[in-house]
Order: sequence, then C-alpha cells, then structure tokens
Amino acid sequence: MNNYDIIIIGGGVVGCMTARALSRYNLKVLLIEKQSDIGMGASSANSAIIHAGHDPVPGTLKARMNKLANPMWDTLSAELGIPFRRCGAYIVALTADEPGCLEDLKQRAMLNGVQAEIISAEEMLRREPKVNPAVTGALFTPTAGLVDPFAACIAPLENAIHNGVEVKVDTAFEDFIIHQGAIVGVHTNQGDFGCRWVINAAGVYADEIMHKAGVHPEFKITPRKGEYYVLDQADIEMDSILFPVPSAVSKGILVLGSTHGNVLVGPNSNLTADKQDTAVTGPGLTEIWQSAQKLVPSLNQKSIIAVFAGTRATGNASSPSSGMDYNHDFMIEIPSSIRGLVNAAGIESPGLTAAPAIAEYIIELLKDAGEALKPKKGWDPIRQPRPRFNHLNREEQRVLGEADPAYRRIICRCEMVTEGEIIAEIHAPIPARTYDAIKRRTWLGTGRCLGSFDMPRVVDILSRELGVSPLEISKKGPGSELLFRTTKEVED
Ligand SMILES: Cc1cc2nc3c(=O)[nH]c(=O)nc-3n(C[C@H](O)[C@H](O)[C@H](O)COP(=O)(O)OP(=O)(O)OC[C@H]3O[C@@H](n4cnc5c(N)ncnc54)[C@H](O)[C@@H]3O)c2cc1C
Repeated sequence: MNNYDIIIIGGGVVGCMTARALSRYNLKVLLIEKQSDIGMGASSANSAIIHAGHDPVPGTLKARMNKLANPMWDTLSAELGIPFRRCGAYIVALTADEPGCLEDLKQRAMLNGVQAEIISAEEMLRREPKVNPAVTGALFTPTAGLVDPFAACIAPLENAIHNGVEVKVDTAFEDFIIHQGAIVGVHTNQGDFGCRWVINAAGVYADEIMHKAGVHPEFKITPRKGEYYVLDQADIEMDSILFPVPSAVSKGILVLGSTHGNVLVGPNSNLTADKQDTAVTGPGLTEIWQSAQKLVPSLNQKSIIAVFAGTRATGNASSPSSGMDYNHDFMIEIPSSIRGLVNAAGIESPGLTAAPAIAEYIIELLKDAGEALKPKKGWDPIRQPRPRFNHLNREEQRVLGEADPAYRRIICRCEMVTEGEIIAEIHAPIPARTYDAIKRRTWLGTGRCLGSFDMPRVVDILSRELGVSPLEISKKGPGSELLFRTTKEVED
C-alpha cells in the first residue's frame, strides 16, 4: 500500500488550491478525483465571479473567507497564469423601493469590510448603457472580478504537481480505513492508500464522505441547481457584472461578461434531490431569460449558443454534535470525533472566490492540530501558462508557428485554437484525454459552431497522441464516447 501524509478527496477548485498550498511543505500529498479530469464538478459550472464579499452574512466563515480571498487573486493570476480581470460589479435597482435595499446591502458590505458605493441611475447608464433605462440606482463593488474557472483548478494543481504533489484521476474514494479512532488510509476503486490525514473536498458529496467516518450524521447537503444561457460573443459584448437586488436564497439572476468574452445569463436557484442533476429545464430557462431581460431589455434570444447548469453544495442542517449551525455557512473544520479528517463541506457560492483562503485556513487547522509543517526548500510558486495563439500578436504567432508548424494549423475556427495548443494540453502535467478536457483548457468549441467543425479533428488528434482507437475517445469519460462504430473498412 502506498503511503501519504495527506490525501485530498476531490479535484474541484478547493481541492486544487489546497494541494498547491500543501505543496509548500515537506509532505507527501495525493489528490484523488473520481472523474476523468479535474474541475468537472461545481467548479466548472458557475458564474466565475471573484466576489467582492458584500453578500455573505457578516460574522460567518463564508464572509471571512470571501474577504480574505478576494485580494489573493491578483497574485494567483500573476504566479499561475490564471486569466483574471477586476472589473467591479453592480447591483442594479429597478423599482422605486429598491434603492432602500441598496442602502441595506451597503451596510452589510461595510460590516464585511468590503468597499461599496451607491451610484445614481444616470451614472449606471453611463457606465453600462445596456442596463434597463428604468434603473433607479446601483451599488458598485469595485473589487469584484471575473476569472477563468477552469484555469482556477488546472493552474494551481499543475503548480502543485511541479512541487511534488501526486494526482490520480478516475480514482473514487469508497471508504476510510480506521484504526483505533484514527484514519490511517482510504479504500478507492483503484486500491488502498495509507495516510495520516484526509481532506474532504468532495463538493456535493462531502456529507456522504464524512458520514462514512461517522462524523455529523445530521449534516446534509441538498444541492441547489443554477441554470445558464451562454451568448455568442460575436453578437453581444459586456465587460460588467450586473446583479439584480438579491432574494433571500440567492444573489439573483445576472447578466455578466467573462474572461473569455462570452456573455452569461443566469443562474436561478432551485433545490434538487439528485446530486448529479445538471440538466437544464424549459421552465428554468424561461425563468432566467425573463428575469435577465428586466436587467438588460435588449437581450436577444438569437444570441444564445449554449446552455448549462451547475449545483451548489448547500449544507442545510445544523450540527448539534459540534454545537454549530452550518445552515448555509461553510463547514471547514477538524471534527473532534475522529483523528485525521479535515472537512471542507457546504462550499456553495462564493466557494470559487474563497478557495485560496479556504486552503490557507486548512493549513492553519493542521498546524493547530499539532502537524509540524516544515517549509519545502526550493518551492516554486510559478506555473508558466502555455501559449494561446489567439492571444498573441501577428509577430508572436509567426515565431510560434516557425518553431512548431502544429501552431500554424487552426483546428477551432471560431476560437482560433491551433493543433499545437491541443497537443500541448494532451501532454501537459494533467493530461487532457477527452474532448471536454481540451475544451476547458483552450476554450475550443465554445464559439458559434459549438465544435461542429473542430470535433472530428480533435478526436483524430487525441487518438493519434494517446495511441488509442478513435472509438475510445469520449466527450467527458467512459460512457460518453463520440463514435459508435466504424462505417467502412479502411484499406492500408
Ligand atoms: C450555479 C452556480 C454559480 C456559482 N457562482 C459562483 C461565483 O460566481 N463565484 C464564486 O465564488 N462561487 C460560485 N459558485 C460556487 C463555486 O462554484 C463552488 O463553491 C466551488 O466550485 C466548489 O468547489 P469544490 O472544490 O468544493 O467542489 P467541486 O468543484 O464540486 O469539486 C468536488 C470534486 O470532488 C469530486 N468527488 C466527489 N466525490 C468523490 C469521491 N468519492 N472520490 C473522488 N472524488 C470525488 C467531484 O468529482 C468533484 O470534482 C457557484 C456555484 C454554482 C453551482
């Protein structure tokens, strides 16, 4: 049995940021992810906002983690090459009584130590002319920003690997190995691994994992689904983040830009019993469109190119065993009933924003538990991003193409992604082995044609580079193979 100091369950943004934080120390760390790639859970299906921190209830762990994490993103972006833009966000009031709500939200922002200012309707329209002219005022939070949510997982984990962390995908945690009240390892579908600590960062499944250790049986995650439209960047541009005045359960249905250029519309917030339910629904899509049109009346359904949904890991029970109430708050703790477990559970929004602060908090919890964390000599914080042809100027593109002709072959015409970029991702530290894995890393297939031009070529490249039959190439892992059978025998 391979032995580790720490095993992290879950390759979402929390697991990936925690892996990077732990890679600073002399520890043997393994991250296991049950899916075929990392970042396939909530971390890949969200609004991608680095929240300012005005929204969480003051005094909660959520508010603290949001406030601490927000300023970290400039350094993370610079060190790891994560696309990030601090564009600020607006909460837009549309009725005569909503400006009063803005005052309340400003007070909450101040209690959370977050910068916020109320601007007039005229100023809002000057800054973002697409906003409904009926606007009555807005709350501006200048420190909010937009991030590439896929890079927010891939980049820190690549850096963690560079600094010695091991990663196993297609590896599902099944149970704990417990000896005399302490966790000493895990059973997985790929065999057993020994460890002294397990970090439970399993998103919507974090409750089921802690229950296997007999911890907080009353704590239950009931996912809340959020649905989205993606609009064609050739049709509509937007640099802002526009929120409506929030409801009791959600920040409301937004219209916002992205680091990549597409405009997103959504999400709604509906409880679902099924943790794997990421299906969009007719009523859900109608709900988000009607609501978004109140914010931006000029939205045109002809601009819609895609839909998707993600599930928030809402922890909806209090926990008498610990005397704490985790209703809607993050549960980041070392439970007292067993040795060797760290829970990072109930990480709903703003979990993407908060992830780097959650990682640091986990380090502090381990230190408090007596773990001697010795800094690793030669730890390297830098991860060099791979070239993106579309982001280069003509001269840089020419030089790249001369060095490697694969960078001269455009595979995705909408997003201008080259064969060189695809090959680089297939052979990267976390190899991209499916169509969607390439898409998450290069944004290929996210334009108007939605991959109809590039997909056969990507299947061909994946098959060639991985040395497997094209019949084995899948969209997102086993069960989603893109080809069913050969249609004719090909002669050599
Ligand atoms: C609709 C929506 C909008 C949101 N918008 C924002 C936003 O704008 N800004 C923001 O800050 N936050 C936002 N969030 C919240 C944010 O996306 C999440 O808080 C964050 O991604 C949670 O990360 P995670 O790593 O905890 O979970 P996940 O990303 O879900 O990762 C958990 C991982 O654990 C793996 N796993 C589960 N069980 C096992 C097992 N048995 N063995 C091995 N692996 C396992 C899963 O496969 C998964 O990859 C939004 C969320 C949603 C759903």
